[in-house]
Amino acid sequence: MSRTTPPRPVNIEALFPKLGAFRGTTTRLHPRPGRPDAAASSVGGPMLWPADEPWPVCTEPHKRSSGYRIADVRRERQVLADAWARDRPTDEERDLLKELGRRHRQREIADTDPIPLVGLAQLYRRDVPGLPPGPDGCDLLQVFWCPFEAHGPTRYGLAPHVRWRRSDQVTVPLDTPPQPALVGFKGSIAEPCVCTPKWSRPTRTRTRSRPGCGGGSTPGRTWKHAGRNGAARTKNHPPTTTTCRFPKGSASADSPPGARPTPRQ
Ligand SMILES: [Zn+2]
Repeated sequence: MSRTTPPRPVNIEALFPKLGAFRGTTTRLHPRPGRPDAAASSVGGPMLWPADEPWPVCTEPHKRSSGYRIADVRRERQVLADAWARDRPTDEERDLLKELGRRHRQREIADTDPIPLVGLAQLYRRDVPGLPPGPDGCDLLQVFWCPFEAHGPTRYGLAPHVRWRRSDQVTVPLDTPPQPALVGFKGSIAEPCVCTPKWSRPTRTRTRSRPGCGGGSTPGRTWKHAGRNGAARTKNHPPTTTTCRFPKGSASADSPPGARPTPRQ
């Protein structure tokens, strides 16, 4: 599937030549619902992970005994998508959605128990030309996060976790990665999406990132990876960011896809 970004109506650098210094290479990932495998760049798809390597976990102390079941989150999205594609949710479906949207509590989970991180996206360098090479020839960038908004100075961050790896060194991949029993909010779970990268060279100014993308039946439409000159640097990694906004296509029991932005859950 190819996606075309429309031509810009104005040559902004002709009007403001000094903006040329801020030009960078950006790859729009164009994630669309699909069934990617671990050999593909994806959002919300399976991660290429060695079977003999421990899965990353969050050990930071915070509440993690209350939240949503991942299976319920996915089922709720499917019920909504089917209902609005047909007409609207029936009374029976509304009852089901109410049950699926319920928070659960597992009191035995302590605030310091390690919980598996959620795979968010993986990008092969072959798909993202602006992505600098990883250390020691790594060609695969993997992004995870803890599905609880409970980190950082504000205690509302999602604690993204970045790994680089060499895909040719994964001889026995992990079939079934561990999952957290509960997630703090539904938007932390991205639906599996196939990426159709498209490259552009926009003039970049300050951008703001928000966690929670990928929720709803249609993942964020503005996922992109900013390459050289266009991304925030972290202490130990080359510049890498994923920037996203909330999807326009998410649905609820009371409104069809596209009726309104998805609220935080
Ligand atoms: Zn955490």
